[in-house]
Amino acid sequence: MPDRPDECPADPPAQALPEQRHRLVSDQDVEDADDVLFAHPPRVVRRWLCECGVDYPCADVRFALLVKSSAEAGE
Ligand SMILES: [Zn+2]
Repeated sequence: MPDRPDECPADPPAQALPEQRHRLVSDQDVEDADDVLFAHPPRVVRRWLCECGVDYPCADVRFALLVKSSAEAGE
């Protein structure tokens, strides 16, 4: 192996993009953010809760429904 120093001279210069260092976001960024917020409004989702405290149908209800549908299918 050649005797090479570990330092990498290809590091990007620290003074790159001087214009964007003054502001955290550009006008275009703000415009894009507005578009995103407009396209992604919050949604209210109604959840069914079982009397036993978990999302409806709970495991017991699913099993009971399965039993009933199987019984009906067998008639
Ligand atoms: Zn339940």
